[in-house]
Amino acid sequence: MSIRLDTPVQYLKGVGPRRAQIFSGAGIQSTGDLLRNRPARYQDRTNFKLIRDLNLDEEAVIRCRVIVAGRYTTPIKRVQIFEMVVSDRSGSMPVKFFNQPYLERVFRKEQEVILFGTVRNDPYVNSIGLVNPDYELIESDAEPMVHTGRIVPIYRKLGQLTTKQIRQLVSQALHDLDPNIEDTLPEEIKQKYGFPHLRVALEQLHFPAASPGQEPELLKRLETWRTPAQRRFIFEDFYSFQLGLQVLKKQREIFPKKRHIRIYPSVRETIKSVLPFHPTAAQKRVVKEIADDLCSSKVMNRLLQGDVGSGKTIVALQAILVVIENGFQAALMAPTEILASQHYERISAYLAKTRYRIGLLTSSVKGAARKHLLTAVQEGKINLLIGTHALIQKKVTFKDLALVVVDEQHRFGVLQRSLLSQKGDRPDTLVMTATPIPRSLALTLYGDLDLSVIDEMPPGRQPVHTILKTSRNRKEVYALVAEELEKGRQAFVVYPLIEESEKIDLKAATEMAEHLRTEVFKNYTVELLHGRLKADVKEELMQRFKSGETQILVSTTVIEVGIDIPNASVMLIEHAERFGLSQLHQLRGRIGRGAYLSYCILIADRFGSREAFERLDIMRKTSDGFKISEKDLELRGPGEFLGTRQSGMPEFIFGSIVRDRDLLAAAHSEAETRLEQVLEVSGNQQSRALKEIQQQWQKRFSLYGVG
Ligand code: ADP
Ligand code: MG
Repeated sequence: MSIRLDTPVQYLKGVGPRRAQIFSGAGIQSTGDLLRNRPARYQDRTNFKLIRDLNLDEEAVIRCRVIVAGRYTTPIKRVQIFEMVVSDRSGSMPVKFFNQPYLERVFRKEQEVILFGTVRNDPYVNSIGLVNPDYELIESDAEPMVHTGRIVPIYRKLGQLTTKQIRQLVSQALHDLDPNIEDTLPEEIKQKYGFPHLRVALEQLHFPAASPGQEPELLKRLETWRTPAQRRFIFEDFYSFQLGLQVLKKQREIFPKKRHIRIYPSVRETIKSVLPFHPTAAQKRVVKEIADDLCSSKVMNRLLQGDVGSGKTIVALQAILVVIENGFQAALMAPTEILASQHYERISAYLAKTRYRIGLLTSSVKGAARKHLLTAVQEGKINLLIGTHALIQKKVTFKDLALVVVDEQHRFGVLQRSLLSQKGDRPDTLVMTATPIPRSLALTLYGDLDLSVIDEMPPGRQPVHTILKTSRNRKEVYALVAEELEKGRQAFVVYPLIEESEKIDLKAATEMAEHLRTEVFKNYTVELLHGRLKADVKEELMQRFKSGETQILVSTTVIEVGIDIPNASVMLIEHAERFGLSQLHQLRGRIGRGAYLSYCILIADRFGSREAFERLDIMRKTSDGFKISEKDLELRGPGEFLGTRQSGMPEFIFGSIVRDRDLLAAAHSEAETRLEQVLEVSGNQQSRALKEIQQQWQKRFSLYGVG
């Protein structure tokens, strides 16, 4: 029978209704799904041995013959045992199987068989032997082996289905598969990257062939996912995702904006008059990129990347000014109330001399004040509305929203991004990230956005001095802090607060603050800031620290993002080993913003392992946020790196954005090329191609809603 990739699994030999149901539960409907169920790992089962040469505890493959076989039940525990004695030309040994009485019908006397298993000592007969080995009957030498005598795939168990059963079904499906199945990748791409045809790739994915003696070599490549067949599937995974993103992007570009935005001389003058300093060359460059987008008829969807402290805020401010000078409204959304009010204050100060009105909307703006504000926004009397996710609530409506700026993006779901955009008539969107995002991750999360990078720091920054200490050096550390306070500087003390142990952590932070206040730094003001405090209390605390009234701010990680206090010159981080590198980098970015030499002190309780030390040592060695985040991504993986469970990351079957960076970049550029080709062909054909890409995409990544 000829099987195709879209043949439902229940039509496969060996799959009845029960198995079909198990497969369906694991998302496997078609033969194609089954064949794309990737092996979790591989095992080299070519280590053929003679019975005489077997060693205890080693994994071995033995080709032998059944001498005697029989079944019995243990008297007390009533376990069914099938036992046989097998022999080869060097000797014989016992083999036992538990609870598989049907084997009686499988192994007949004289049957030739290949066994694979770990050699164990059988205490009853005082001899080495095998227990529950994988086996393969030899009917004729021409049949290729499936379970032994080769490199075999090991699958995750699916319901009741064992890896051996799955292997058997995959082998059967490949055997019956139509030899002329159509390939899903274009010929040019396969040639360019040396990828095999789909048919061959599927075979090599599950049953990789090695020439005799080359198995260990091949196994190594398989384990690191470097074989051409494996790389083909990794590429395809990324490619279909990137294609989908490209289609999304193009679709947004198809409908032109109705508004016209110009950079009038008055715009330039306003910008010049409000900017407190000269922009860096990098800031100028990205402002130009953004301004070009604003003036173009295509809707802007741009990601602005820049390390902490690189000055993203004034770049956003310039974009905002362009828009409001043209008579439209802008919105700026920040992830926390503290950040939103900081933006509000700073921008209000910058724009104090202009005629523009700025509003602040957070959950603490209530009652009449809120109503008043919302009306003003709706009537267009507010030119710029700054706020938290309160901005995306239904009741907020704009008169003419033309620009949406989202600060510290990866804290917002992709969905929230799109909700805000829906409040205007295809507004331009500028997304700013707090953490430098490694390119591989940016391509995945933001592949549908254009990218601008600020790769230069404002002048006059002093590099932050980073010091690693254990808690035994606490006295020394406090002395350093005291010295800074004496000079008139301020200090942050940060405590990790892990969700699972929040209460205990908060208690520790509270006690630490108390200890610092009453004993170590008696002569200074010490305050504690944490996430459980009410918004207005937090706000007051921040104000007192900003104004210099408080010298030491003990805090849980709520200060992580965005806070700007140039007079703070010390960042002391407790339990530094509990933070991710990017988080530490963010925290460190809070200091060294003034003209003073600053210190970031990382206290780790125990360096536990060498690894923990080496990890923290990276902080000492580099201040390059992109390098740090690459390393962080590598060490922790994307889920942890993004720090949110719902990070909007798609699930790739084969690809790892850390391991397969090269293929991800390749897939991105190939997808761009492909889409250009699609857009060159005319009408019907084009829309059919686009539709197909989208359907594919939705099937694979449907859970990943993109806005
Ligand atoms: P981030 O990119 O982390 O959001 P900010 O926008 O908060 O950084 O800017 C960090 C600090 O650098 C702020 O105090 C800001 O006023 C200052 N700054 C930004 N651009 C410049 C510049 N071109 N020259 C001098 N200082 C600048
Ligand atoms: Mg910022």
